[in-house]
Amino acid sequence: MALPGWKKLVAIAIGILCGGLPLIGFNLWLEVLVQRQNLDDVGVSAARSIEIAETRVDQAVTALDILEIRGVTECTPGQTDILRQAALTATSVKDLLVLDGAGNVLCSGLDAVPGRRLLAPVGEGNPVLELVQIRTLRFLRLARRLPNGLWLAGLVSADLLVPLTASRGGPFSAWIRLSLDDGKVVTEGGGRNPNNLDAAALLTGSARSQRYGLAVEAILPKPNGGPLWLIGSAINGAAAVGAFLFGWLMTRRKPDHPLADIKRALSADEFVAYYQPIVDISSARLLGAEVLVRWRKADGTIVPPAMFVPLLEQSGLIRDMTRKLMRRVRDEISAAYGARPNLTVSFNITAEHFAREDLVEEVQQVFAQGSVRLSQIVLELTERQPLQNMTATRRVIAALQGLGCRVALDDVGTGHSGLSSILKLGVDIIKIDKLFIDSLGNEQNSAAIIETLVDLARNMRMHVIAEGVEDFQQVAELRARGISSAQGFLFAPPLPGQSFLALLEAIDPPGRTEGGELRFLQRAS
Ligand code: C2E
Ligand code: CA
Ligand code: CA
Repeated sequence: MALPGWKKLVAIAIGILCGGLPLIGFNLWLEVLVQRQNLDDVGVSAARSIEIAETRVDQAVTALDILEIRGVTECTPGQTDILRQAALTATSVKDLLVLDGAGNVLCSGLDAVPGRRLLAPVGEGNPVLELVQIRTLRFLRLARRLPNGLWLAGLVSADLLVPLTASRGGPFSAWIRLSLDDGKVVTEGGGRNPNNLDAAALLTGSARSQRYGLAVEAILPKPNGGPLWLIGSAINGAAAVGAFLFGWLMTRRKPDHPLADIKRALSADEFVAYYQPIVDISSARLLGAEVLVRWRKADGTIVPPAMFVPLLEQSGLIRDMTRKLMRRVRDEISAAYGARPNLTVSFNITAEHFAREDLVEEVQQVFAQGSVRLSQIVLELTERQPLQNMTATRRVIAALQGLGCRVALDDVGTGHSGLSSILKLGVDIIKIDKLFIDSLGNEQNSAAIIETLVDLARNMRMHVIAEGVEDFQQVAELRARGISSAQGFLFAPPLPGQSFLALLEAIDPPGRTEGGELRFLQRAS
């Protein structure tokens, strides 16, 4: 059928409208979405950045705490040594100093600024947080006044105070600006420099640290709404719809999503406990065991925790798993532990769980049955993850200690929070990470860190456990430093329940009062 020319044109126009309108609508919707996502992103970036800056300054505060505890008030040779050791240990602190009020350096931990007069004399307040410049480098200087009128100070590199990499996977796209209360910019950097862009073209998020009077601004240029962007987003949109449909079809075809798998494993009780012995290397006696979870699949494969614990954590199922594991362990070791009241059993608890009061009740409920005493229980809090809520965590720790349990800080030395958490949390035990044990004897820094930790533990009446001990050389190094508890493949790998109970029977038959001995260790000493 031959249509007249104008009708053809109308038909084409209607066709374009019908095909194009949904696409244009989709683009507009996408633009709003991108805008909102970016607003979320700058908010998250600002919050995350202020957390990082606070953690760095926290570490400087802790370093000054340690200097005060260890009696550094001026610059005797002994005190300068302590200054040096502490400067090596505090990773994000560039240097530790004793200053007079005019800002003159009397002594320095790393001699990074020997005998130089810092540009600024110390200002008002106690402690004082100030921006100082040494040659071309900028530092935040945290200074605390001593009773004798001198000042203890820590220098944190300004560059270390803002994140260089992502908070959400991809490159960190926002521009981050950190300033002091008086508006002085401490440091800035990150994504695209917004300084010569119009304020109306920017999205900003901000966050403040009450504690230190620091403020962060995260700045991102608004997404560009030009025609190219529209075409680009249309293509993206079509691709997204395709990907969505594809994903939807895939999930319909394959119901075995990893999370679904894990949920099934949880209800089928496939998470089992392995037990790694903890030993006293001075007497060669068994002290207890750490529970390490394994996924024992129906076909007998054993899956290590690195493959599923992160997923349990993300999905919030970790608490269910931990409760089940505790019950399982209680039933498995009840008789053996009832007969050996000095043995301990340690559980790994995630930081998020440790900030919830429920944990206290759960422990109490689980161990109300069976013969494992609350005094035999140790709960390990890892330093690898950032602590969730310091105040709540501290309360939970105190409540657990009130029940008679003990609390250990795990992976010490690897964490975000540094020594400050050890001081603040009031834990009973610190577990020094394998990383430091491995480099004992061949790296001076590790030895200095371990010595500082042991000193600190002694002052605070905490017990120290060395993790990941693999050879006798390390045992000798640990003994020389007065560390008596250790865990590692040298003594035993994590053992299935039956093997652990058999080991107990073999070395520590019930009725003996002194506890089981690992004879091979005595021979080796
Ligand atoms: P972790 O708590 O630091 O546990 C110590 C890890 O080091 C264990 O790995 C253990 O098998 C391993 N290990 C012990 N001695 C040696 C040694 O001498 N050499 C070497 N190379 N490794 C040694 P595993 O069992 O794979 O557990 C890994 C991590 O998974 C644990 O680290 C812990 O953070 C987490 N995890 C394990 N069980 C649980 C659990 O029940 N709940 C939670 N939340 N996390 C758990
Ligand atoms: Ca642990
Ligand atoms: Ca550990």
